[in-house]
Amino acid sequence: MGCIKQDGVNATDNGSGLDFNPYESMQPRAPGVTPREMRNGARVKSDGPAPEGLYRPDYNILTPQMRSPDYVQMSTAAAITLGVTDGRMYRCECTRCLNLLLTYPEGCRANCAYCGLARHREAERDYADRNFIRVDWPAVPMETVVDIVAKDGANSPFHRMCISMITHPRSDDDTVAVLKKWTSRIDPDTIPVSILSNPTTMGRADVENLKNLGADIFTVALDAATPAIFDRTRGKGVQSPHKWSKYWEVLMDARDIFGAEKFGAHIIVGMGETEYEVLNLVQELVDLGGHSHMFCFFPEDGSLMDHLPATPRDQWRRVQLARYLIDYRDVRIDHMKFDELGRVVDFGLPTTELDDVINAGVAFRTSGCPGKEAEDVSACDRPYGDSPPSNIASYPFAPKKKDLKKIRKQLGIPLKTV
Ligand code: SF4
Repeated sequence: MGCIKQDGVNATDNGSGLDFNPYESMQPRAPGVTPREMRNGARVKSDGPAPEGLYRPDYNILTPQMRSPDYVQMSTAAAITLGVTDGRMYRCECTRCLNLLLTYPEGCRANCAYCGLARHREAERDYADRNFIRVDWPAVPMETVVDIVAKDGANSPFHRMCISMITHPRSDDDTVAVLKKWTSRIDPDTIPVSILSNPTTMGRADVENLKNLGADIFTVALDAATPAIFDRTRGKGVQSPHKWSKYWEVLMDARDIFGAEKFGAHIIVGMGETEYEVLNLVQELVDLGGHSHMFCFFPEDGSLMDHLPATPRDQWRRVQLARYLIDYRDVRIDHMKFDELGRVVDFGLPTTELDDVINAGVAFRTSGCPGKEAEDVSACDRPYGDSPPSNIASYPFAPKKKDLKKIRKQLGIPLKTV
């Protein structure tokens, strides 16, 4: 069949002369030692004022004492869409997913190397002030969130709500409390709920409970594509408690309990895995009945990987396209071809079909749990969560002609057919 093959290596933007991020170069910094008096949110717990409504992250002042389930944080995009903060987003009117992040003065007790919320930042920034996937996360009373969304009813701009758990002793119980507060006022058939889980503190009974309480989709943030990268970025390598085996145990529980198409895993591309390795994982998830939600690695300010290069667009686009083909077009990894460095050189689809997929643009949009538009269009569009607007990785909107031209250039696949 007339498959598109890529000719050699494309121009790169990671500064190393390579068009991908190799394992050897993606070593996180070691976390420093936090003075005892700054650990566990001590200064917020001892001196932080009582919260009063909305809190906008400001690391020049002491953060109020906010705790879930009474308070949740949300992405800047979600806060703008909800109408609790002002602001505009480049080429986006709103976001379709209301991400609610659990919040505590102690913050997340894990230390994942790529994450802005990690514990090693305790001395530098109070938890609710930390940047996460490139943006601030304002804190809002849960009551206010529910009031606004319930009032909007079926006219709500949100297609989905997602509770993002963190590693904290209260996280399991408070996820349940937030879910109950939501479903007591909002019909989960109108705005379905996803759970972005924290497997480290969870067991099978927790997964079952969330399903019984009305959660629609359960995802596991594997983030790392291989056990070695997992251990290096979120396990022993950075004094963090997570284990690859535990994440898979909970992922398998989610598969049994939530069922096909209702579970998935988050994966960050470009932390040192090969394209073959990450796509093999994508295939494994599809074979299990689930989906992969992909993020392009970006060196988050203040994280233990903030000195490392973002994923070159060449690598990202190849993986993004191949993942879409495996997830939604029944192409299998064994139909594809890879070079000796594990890079995709053949997507396993006839030229005209591949052209159609590229031209449709969906493959290059942010991936995640579906909204109301189509099964392969994510409600969770995370505007500029994995790149600056000047060099978009995941498009939070349908790419236009000029975007597709740029994407084709990054893929090294010029338009040959119309
Ligand atoms: S568990 Fe999640 S929130 Fe906590 S540091 Fe790791 S990635 Fe960040």
